Amino acid sequence: AGKIGVLALQGDVSEHIGAFERALGPGAETRVVAVRRAEQIADLDAIALPGGESTTISRLIEKNGMHRLLAEFEGGIFATCAGMVLVASEVDDPRVSPLGILDIGVERNAFGRQAESHEAYLEIAGLDEPFHAIFIRAPLASRVGAGVEVLARTELGVVAVRQGRHMAFSFHPELAGDLRLHRLFLENLSL
Ligand code: GLN
Repeated sequence: AGKIGVLALQGDVSEHIGAFERALGPGAETRVVAVRRAEQIADLDAIALPGGESTTISRLIEKNGMHRLLAEFEGGIFATCAGMVLVASEVDDPRVSPLGILDIGVERNAFGRQAESHEAYLEIAGLDEPFHAIFIRAPLASRVGAGVEVLARTELGVVAVRQGRHMAFSFHPELAGDLRLHRLFLENLSL
């Protein structure tokens, strides 16, 4: 029986908890918990870093003494939107202290004003059918390291990546009502 944490400092926490609970299914032994304190992190098999405001979440990570625990976390990380900004190695905004978990560089709010929020059907590596991707003031991966697998891109750039046990998305799988990416992530971790 595993334990999945959703970092609950700011952002769409309950949506992440609900999506993982549905992906695990009724009667699952793996539990999903909200993570508000640093002491909770070591005990987790996986952690989701939600969408929200990456500058705010970053400030709260530092304030709560979580930076090093997250940077050195040995389980899987499922990062969406602001979460993708946080797990990067470089971010184009000095207010974010990147965790350096994925070997990517990230540009915040990379889609420009006209496309601040938009939806698209994306081809994603590992999925048979396109995925309904919801983008909300989304980032792009502007640099992708050699050890990082690109799972999806749009004409503007890379929007989904995997590196080992970790996955990161510019968009919001937790809002899509489609749990295939959650299931892929859980299968990789045998959860
Ligand atoms: N633009 C936000 C940020 O960079 C992310 C938006 C989101 O998570 N929906 O923090």
